[in-house]
Amino acid sequence: MDEIFKYSDEFGPKMIVAVHEPEARLKGIVVVDNVARGPAIGGTRMAPDVSVEECFRLARAMTYKNAAANLPHGGAKSVIVGDPEMSLGEKEKLFRAFARAIRDVKDYVPGPDMGTNEACMAWVQEEIGRAIGLPGEIGGIPLDQIGATGLGLVAAVDVAKDFCGLDLNGATVAIQGFGSVGQHTARFLKKRGCVLVGACDIHGTVSNQDGLDLDTLLDLEKSGKSVIEYGGKVEDKDAIIDVPCDIWVPAARPDVITLHNVDRLKTRVIPQGANIPMSPEIEKVLHERGVLILPDFIANAGGVICGAVEYRGGTREEAEAIIVDTVSSNTRTILENVRKKNVLPREAAITLARERLLEAMEKPDFNCAA
Ligand code: NAD
Repeated sequence: MDEIFKYSDEFGPKMIVAVHEPEARLKGIVVVDNVARGPAIGGTRMAPDVSVEECFRLARAMTYKNAAANLPHGGAKSVIVGDPEMSLGEKEKLFRAFARAIRDVKDYVPGPDMGTNEACMAWVQEEIGRAIGLPGEIGGIPLDQIGATGLGLVAAVDVAKDFCGLDLNGATVAIQGFGSVGQHTARFLKKRGCVLVGACDIHGTVSNQDGLDLDTLLDLEKSGKSVIEYGGKVEDKDAIIDVPCDIWVPAARPDVITLHNVDRLKTRVIPQGANIPMSPEIEKVLHERGVLILPDFIANAGGVICGAVEYRGGTREEAEAIIVDTVSSNTRTILENVRKKNVLPREAAITLARERLLEAMEKPDFNCAA
């Protein structure tokens, strides 16, 4: 029992569900953390090494993220053990089995996350009529195609630049994880005049202080190849940490920066595309060194905002406007509080989210207008 209840506090989790279907090779966990603001939305992650703890921490991040973004949704997350590069047929079988297994967890609306995509959500929707991040043909706003999360991250950077005197024109960028979030962030930052000097995926890192050609990298990814096929200076995936830059974007896995490698980072701003890319202790070390952290659940809320707009039948244009408005105004609020109250960005962000969460928990008939 202690193993499970060690995560419990006044906010949740409401339930932790294990799903197992040997015939489809399904092993997964759903954590529904808090539903005070409405049905919980949060992505389904597929990776070979996911854990209950990772799932819980990600679910809590969703509770805070959805509350901070003023969405009428609680927070949840699910993880499925598996190799995202399995065949399409195996994936479909797995996702349909997953969907059937969570049919009765009605408080949970799944969405795409690492290792999953719109097609996976379409299978879930077909099985149980409940998913976000759907393909356009069946009423979705294609959040990975429009780069909803990248759009929000760059809106956060746009606000942050004034708090740390950074000129985006010519600012250098390194991206860890050149997937959906990483690619669109690179694209939107390029539009602001930034120069991409490093990118990595699971296979390795490419870097060049004179700049990498973004279109070439995007073409490689589109054709299913790794960034390392770009050529030039190629190193292992963790070498991205050593690439000196003004903006270092984590867009891969949790806990990628630790006490063992934090001294290698040479950057000024870290907009957290990935969820929990480092612990609060590491953020403190960086903050004391003058590095501006833009916390995950504030800066990377674009995807879930897009999903929430889709869930209520809104349009892409509406979603984009709400993403930029919400992420900009939340980033400004927390960075002003960092200055005024001399707290860490994450502390200011958690205070903002908890206020909005408690407001809902204290009113049983809470009805969010967003
Ligand atoms: P993705 O699967 O499209 O891309 C992940 C990328 O990271 C790939 O390029 C992969 O090769 C690389 N990668 C995986 N493990 C790595 C490692 N150990 N070191 C270096 N690179 C590695 O995933 P995504 O949708 O872009 O999500 C990336 C991160 O952003 C995740 O942490 C996810 O939770 C978070 N996030 C995603 C969204 C969204 O809208 N997709 C929204 C909010 C947060």
